[in-house]
Amino acid sequence: MKKLLPALLLLAAACKQKEYNADLLVKNAVVYTVDSTFTTANAFVVSKGKILAVGNADTLEQKYNAHEVLDAKGAAIYPGFIDAHAHFYEYGLGLQEVNLDGTKSWKEIVDSVEAYATRNTDGWIVGRGWDQNDWDKKQFPDKAKLDSLFPVRPVILSRVDGHAVIANQAALNIAGVKPGQTINGGEIETVKGKLTGILVDNAVGIVTRKIPEPTAPVVENALLSAQKNCFEVGLTTVDDCGLPYTMINTLADLQHKGSLKMRLYVMLADRQENYDYLFKRGAYKTPYLDVRAFKVYADGALGSRGACLLKPYADSAKWNGFLLSSQAHFEEVAKKIAEKGFQMCTHAIGDSANRVILKIYASVLKGKNDRRWRIEHSQIVAPEDVKLFGDNSIIPSVQPTHATSDMYWAGKRLGEKRLKSSGYVYKALLKQNGWIPLGTDFPVENINPMYTFYAAVERKDLKGFPEHGFQKENALTREEALRGITIWAAKANFEEKEKGSIEPGKYADFVILDKDIMKAKGAELPTVKVTGTYINGVKVYDKK
Ligand SMILES: [Zn+2]
Repeated sequence: MKKLLPALLLLAAACKQKEYNADLLVKNAVVYTVDSTFTTANAFVVSKGKILAVGNADTLEQKYNAHEVLDAKGAAIYPGFIDAHAHFYEYGLGLQEVNLDGTKSWKEIVDSVEAYATRNTDGWIVGRGWDQNDWDKKQFPDKAKLDSLFPVRPVILSRVDGHAVIANQAALNIAGVKPGQTINGGEIETVKGKLTGILVDNAVGIVTRKIPEPTAPVVENALLSAQKNCFEVGLTTVDDCGLPYTMINTLADLQHKGSLKMRLYVMLADRQENYDYLFKRGAYKTPYLDVRAFKVYADGALGSRGACLLKPYADSAKWNGFLLSSQAHFEEVAKKIAEKGFQMCTHAIGDSANRVILKIYASVLKGKNDRRWRIEHSQIVAPEDVKLFGDNSIIPSVQPTHATSDMYWAGKRLGEKRLKSSGYVYKALLKQNGWIPLGTDFPVENINPMYTFYAAVERKDLKGFPEHGFQKENALTREEALRGITIWAAKANFEEKEKGSIEPGKYADFVILDKDIMKAKGAELPTVKVTGTYINGVKVYDKK
């Protein structure tokens, strides 16, 4: 034994000199690690898809023998961006349909549909996004032109808010819609004894229910095209809010095959079969897919006056909006979810909806806890209710671009006073737990996390309006906004130990930007572009 000791010491000394192998060395960068002290570094090393070491290029180069070296040439690098609230699959499906956003006339719509029909030669033609308020002639169109172009092929085109559609005769025939037919809570427009093709509210479903379920290739296409666009804007994880359990296998298969590389945090919709499935199976977790949450809807949206308010709408006397399910339902699912140890994420827009859910959560969570139950949107919260978030460790999950999209009309719905005291109060909400996840709710808003960052810190829209920011007291700092789209979003998903920062042991998910968003001028933020996106240290998007 005595003889062995000097030999061991020699060996240890030799190891010190020896280089370690690594897959990738990233150097000459400004690396915002987004660790607890917001450290920056100029290099890091990746091995087997994970961050191995972060620090100074000289030291790391001495120590590691990297298979590949990436010279960032001074560019800023951030952890891969995470969207804490989106509809990834739905967005992808939308990309397969006719996009009618921003169309300026009925003729332009018909032209888009025709162009789509020549590229996609069979099946239903589904489109979305028209708004007659954007046209010179601000009237609902009629289906005559669609009937002459598509006498056999069904066509259905949704208005921007989804509350009205125009369908052609072929689609109406499939659904069995007859002139003069009536429906509760909806309208089937009939003029001079003839259907115009316009269907409103509850009438919409009569036809949309007849649209066949997407086939496997359509589903795959949807997911892969959503992924492509998301990689382009630096997203490496997306929270998909409200899928059926049947999607879990589809996603897992594509991820297993390697074609779907996006990491997804999936919330299952509030439906009995989803609870049955996940309660029986237990949480689903792979490096790419995490299913342990349920998405519940408390109310609707503010724009269509579906948000449930404590006091009537300022622009609709005696109307408070409504809850989408009974309070008893929310209580029941909250108890069940808590008992089984899952996460509850509830959409709540109005101050009444927020209060109802906060109180139900509080009754189940009973003070500080680490269950990370979320209120999605937390959009209008009565000032006296804000503390319920902190008291019960409830996570407000917010979308800064909603504030800057809604600001034009939110004051009409709420009155300026109520808007100022309770609307989009992100800073006040952040203070509750000391952290807040950020998202977009895409496809409702654009997918770009730079817009989220910009809206959070500047509180302005893409036109630079308003000059001094909308209710600027609720703006976040740049550090807070960056944490919101990285580490805090990861934390809202119980994933802060595996992603959300550039630290040893975490997945090597990172993005390179063409400007440093911690230093760029405010007005430049929305124009900042991703030049490279990496997952597991492998490039998934390259601007070229
Ligand atoms: Zn949503």
